[in-house]
Amino acid sequence: MMNRIGILGAGQLARMLALAGYPLGCEFVFYEPKAAPCAANLGRFIEGSYTDEAQLKAFAEQVDVITYETENIPLEAATYLAELKPVFPNPKALAITQDRFKEKTFCQHHGIASTPFIAFESKEQLADCDDDFFPMIIKTRTQGYDGKHQYRLNSRDELNHWQQPEHQDGWIAEKVVRFSREVSIIGARARSGDIVFYDICENGHDQGILRQTRNNIDDPLFEQAKTLATQLMNALNYVGVLAVECFEVDGKLLVNEMAPRVHNSGHWTIDAAKTSQFENHVRAIMGWSLGASDSIARAIMTNFIGEKPPIQSLLVHDDIHVHDYGKEARPGRKIGHMTKVIR
Ligand code: AMP
Repeated sequence: MMNRIGILGAGQLARMLALAGYPLGCEFVFYEPKAAPCAANLGRFIEGSYTDEAQLKAFAEQVDVITYETENIPLEAATYLAELKPVFPNPKALAITQDRFKEKTFCQHHGIASTPFIAFESKEQLADCDDDFFPMIIKTRTQGYDGKHQYRLNSRDELNHWQQPEHQDGWIAEKVVRFSREVSIIGARARSGDIVFYDICENGHDQGILRQTRNNIDDPLFEQAKTLATQLMNALNYVGVLAVECFEVDGKLLVNEMAPRVHNSGHWTIDAAKTSQFENHVRAIMGWSLGASDSIARAIMTNFIGEKPPIQSLLVHDDIHVHDYGKEARPGRKIGHMTKVIR
């Protein structure tokens, strides 16, 4: 009897989950509203809307356990599916991590520092904010990723001129923090409550999009990062991989956002950790024991965004591992990555 995993979303994260799950005897069914996504040919594919209960039910009937590769799915879909089959991470974790306001409030409630913010519906509500709240970054509460739906406003004058677009779930304004580093901590929590962590990832972003990640072995903030991520995972009764993105400010970590899924800054773990984030996510949601998360080398992961270098020219380098997602190239789109392993 195979272990059948259903994944909401069928992009590169779903694809890498499947590539990690097959050796463990898993089969995959992907569910996505868009036609021909890049994981579709790695298992069974259902093209369906996240609001189509009949299709969602048909999907649930084909699998033993359900997970997702993106937090940008309607909460109602995850809640409905959870009545039919186990969904990991649980819908409560999704509800919090898919909404920046809920995420920050949750952090505050648990005494975990995040960037200063103001929640608002209409920009007039920002009129009273202190002058030293500028420069600010305005973000939608939901649906943002890779810097999408974000506006940097340097002054009150820019705020006055800003045309606020329509967005049904509300907004937050965050103070721009002067960070020395952007890092993420990625952990996996098993159904038993066991947790493993990967090395701290140091992330380089440009225009809101992750460009490059390095794992930093023996990072001075590793303990601090593990403590806050453990607290968050336990409080959410979390099962699966969680990524917490943070800014380092004066030696302290401020949470920027959480991703309830495998994460781009953890792609290096495929080639430079004992067990990849993808395999550990599969193990966690299946109720199996986790694999060792120790790194086996230093690594530098570079995304291919919008275009990719000639793959064959990379293959001559023994220390470079290429991952082509089989996606059509489009400006700003992540279509692959490479990891350079430094032994
Ligand atoms: P996000 O979508 O929240 O991850 O934001 C994308 C990128 O914008 C981050 O990785 C940072 O480089 C930058 N950014 C977001 N929020 C802030 C902030 N409050 N202060 C400084 N930089 C930020």
